[in-house]
Amino acid sequence: MPTLFTRIIDREIPADIVYEDEHVVAFRDIQPQAPVHVLIVPRTEIAGLASLPEEGDHRHLLNAAKVIAEQLGLTNGYRLVINQGADGGQTIDHLHAHLLGGRALEWPPG
Ligand code: AMP
Repeated sequence: MPTLFTRIIDREIPADIVYEDEHVVAFRDIQPQAPVHVLIVPRTEIAGLASLPEEGDHRHLLNAAKVIAEQLGLTNGYRLVINQGADGGQTIDHLHAHLLGGRALEWPPG
């Protein structure tokens, strides 16, 4: 079964896609936690950080985050978050990074 995010990448489920390249697709989170909340998803299905292979689309996440942040005008800073497993708050087992910005973010997270 393809993951929810693969179905978004394949345009089977609608999403507000803000960026894509050959390695990743990025779209707005359906429950935004900040004025800008974008999920950056490698095209290849990897369950999460704990099962990361050495090579693959995920290696382009950081560069994509930088480009997307610039495109969305996050000149005052932003945060990139990857949740892993139950304690990390991961709910969808397809590796993704949350790009959050548009307001001052608190630290530490809850
Ligand atoms: P995580 O808890 O780190 O696995 O993050 C999963 C994220 O996916 C959550 O922030 C959800 O709000 C988001 N999400 C779930 N379904 C959708 C959807 N159909 N479109 C966009 N974002 C979604």
